Amino acid sequence: MRAPTASPELFASLTDDVVASGSETVAVATPSTGETLHELPRSSADDVRDAVARARLAQLAWARAGFAERRRVLLRAHDLLLDRADLLLDLVQLESGKTRGQALEEVYQAASVTRYNALSARRVLRGRTRRAGVPLASTTRVRYRPKGVAGVITPWNYALSLAAMDVVPALAAGCAVVQKADDQGALSILALRRAFIDAGLPEALWAVVAGPASEVGEALTDQVDYICFTGSTATGRKIAEKAGRRLVGASLELGGKNAMLVLDDVDPEQAAADAAYACFSAMGQLCVSTERIYVHRAVAAPFTKALVERLDGATLGSSLDYGADFGSLATAAQLERIEAHLDDALAKGATVLAGGRPRTDIGPWFFQPTVLTGVTPDMRVYAEETFGAVASLFLVDSEEEAILAANASEYGLNASVLTRSRRRGRRVADSLEAGSININEGYRGTFGSVDAPMGGVKASGLGRRNGPEGLLRFVEPVTVSTGILPLPRSGRDFGLVAGPFLLLARVLRAIRRR
Ligand code: NAD
Repeated sequence: MRAPTASPELFASLTDDVVASGSETVAVATPSTGETLHELPRSSADDVRDAVARARLAQLAWARAGFAERRRVLLRAHDLLLDRADLLLDLVQLESGKTRGQALEEVYQAASVTRYNALSARRVLRGRTRRAGVPLASTTRVRYRPKGVAGVITPWNYALSLAAMDVVPALAAGCAVVQKADDQGALSILALRRAFIDAGLPEALWAVVAGPASEVGEALTDQVDYICFTGSTATGRKIAEKAGRRLVGASLELGGKNAMLVLDDVDPEQAAADAAYACFSAMGQLCVSTERIYVHRAVAAPFTKALVERLDGATLGSSLDYGADFGSLATAAQLERIEAHLDDALAKGATVLAGGRPRTDIGPWFFQPTVLTGVTPDMRVYAEETFGAVASLFLVDSEEEAILAANASEYGLNASVLTRSRRRGRRVADSLEAGSININEGYRGTFGSVDAPMGGVKASGLGRRNGPEGLLRFVEPVTVSTGILPLPRSGRDFGLVAGPFLLLARVLRAIRRR
């Protein structure tokens, strides 16, 4: 196994960048061995307030710097991310227990999002002339004013790419960011941030805090001008309540119970390969992972056989090379959660088709990719998000039955359709209740499309990241109207213009102008 490019000295120098005035730290373990990887400083509510105050000052100059300067810094950061790819891959793997391939998806996504926002911000956010209320009497322009300081809260599972997907558009739009990193992903975030600082981003413009949600998370959401939250639906509801009380905007990227529809015309081998990756990439600890597979009875036998063979033959590991197919769970808490869901399902009569056991011989939190059948509504895995290692397989007799079953969920984050016919896939996609839908892929088509919005419907969230929508979150549209001709101010003035005004309205209607 290759030695990591990262060292304890590097970890210490990165964690020095956390805004924390005290000396308290918490030990963060690596999933590959369960041993302590580094000590992460704890921020306090006061540290958060200081970081927000400094960010507020820095933001004024950053907003005035304009699109060209911001683009220059972000493009340089993009190049540094590519130069430092090996280090970033190592950090992502060491913190999350992912395979190198799945870490590569994260690093690629972070670079791609950075390039997209650097190159797109001006096109999406420059001021525009709009139709004036009274033609000739005034002009109307909309300009987009950065909201100020955005608070970004990210979970541990895709720390690097999720940070980039929220922080970079905020910076490109002229905002500052104070980010609360989850303990398990902090190193990746700090290394990402360091590339931006080395590219010329003022330090205060992107501050990272870490610590308990009850203190640090709450202090952050109390202070900032906009909240970008990624995490569970339960926490998302609390954030939404607070944002509502404070009347600040929020984008909420929440949980899912994502369905894959395997239609009757698939190549079973190919479909099994797609399903295995969709369910167990990052060991299923991805918001857009598949947890429910609806397979048409006509292909169920060969599909299931191929899926089980593929999973049984998969290589598990977290070595810093491309040797493993699937990695580790990220924390001991994740292992507990998965085992609780599995025990509940087995006690109520579910059957294990593949996997079902821990693999402590590889590492403390490794678990076999597990597929269940015979899952019924009384089991937790049926409707609750498991968020790792377990998928359920259901047989259906028609496309319509698959669609109805897929939509019968409180969630609506991601869905996928496997079929030989792209046209049929698109038709089925039209009926699915999800914010992103992938045809003949599990999630990577939409996740990687950084020019297209990503987010959930129903209990999977509000708002969108990526694409123009992801940038527009961070600005207030401000309408500026400039008077050219005087408008009526007295009864006599109105008497003079009433006829011409009504005539103008009729002419506009006749020529169908809005
Ligand atoms: P979580 O909600 O427990 O925590 C997420 C983050 O929010 C953490 O950093 C946590 O410290 C912080 N937090 C918790 N309570 C808070 C509060 N009251 N105020 C401010 N911050 C608070 O989620 P988790 O278990 O760490 O992450 C897994 C969940 O995230 C899953 O449900 C998964 O589907 C979801 N997720 C969604 C997306 C998406 O894009 N939709 C992406 C990744 C993960």
